Amino acid sequence: MSTRPSLHCLVTGANRGIGLEFTRQLLERGDRVTATCRHPGRATALNALAAEHPGRLHVLPLDITDAKSRAELVRELPLVGGDVDLLINNAGVLHSGERFGHLTAGNFEDSFRTNALGPLLLTQALAPHLAAGAKVVNLSSVLGSVGSVDGFHTPSYAVSKAALNMVTALLAQALAEQHLTVLAFHPGWVMTDMGGDGAQLPATDAVAAMLRVVDAATPADNGRFLNRRGEPMPW
Ligand code: NDP
Repeated sequence: MSTRPSLHCLVTGANRGIGLEFTRQLLERGDRVTATCRHPGRATALNALAAEHPGRLHVLPLDITDAKSRAELVRELPLVGGDVDLLINNAGVLHSGERFGHLTAGNFEDSFRTNALGPLLLTQALAPHLAAGAKVVNLSSVLGSVGSVDGFHTPSYAVSKAALNMVTALLAQALAEQHLTVLAFHPGWVMTDMGGDGAQLPATDAVAAMLRVVDAATPADNGRFLNRRGEPMPW
């Protein structure tokens, strides 16, 4: 039996997809989770998990793009478990169907606010509430890797995830004094609403693999961009 102490984990976008699976696996291994989503009242799967794990799962509202919502979450944190050992910046948006020649600002602004600025400002707000040795995980993507570009795909998403990679590098600098470890991950092409047709990797496998890498990470890994197996991704 493991003697690992139970962690307090905060997951954004926890009502479906990869965020829901992180929540499920963290609870299964005995951790405590503050699971956040835009509409807790409609988060059926999350609320069912809360009933299965009384006292270890708290579901709180958070729209990652909304300053008031972020501030309210920070205010409520002491009531649900205090300092955070593992922050998973998972919430994200992908606008599909974009074509060069028809691009407009709206998708870029929404993607930037959700995928890059949201994680940066939430992590900044939570920084005083991150426990010693805490880890911050940013769900990035190979599509945000400038070194991996192989076509004109999902530009608003790609640009925002490239920005999230810079957010990861900068947060690593800002939080190094607190001896924290900030990581960006490409999880693989995962079977979720966002993954859509063609994805073949179950969220269970992607999340289990990422958690193995997160558990093994140390401050020496601070600021790295990795795939789910822990191998470096090109920036
Ligand atoms: P889904 O589309 O299945 O889920 C996205 C989640 O983000 C939902 O919970 C959604 O909430 C939430 N979300 C979106 N906007 C906001 C917001 N403004 N505030 C709070 N929550 C928000 O995506 P996945 O589970 O597949 O993706 C999770 C992360 O992994 C994303 O960051 C994605 O970019 C990344 N990723 C996914 C890949 C894949 O193949 N699936 C590949 C590479 C990276 P709501 O239900 O309210 O819309």
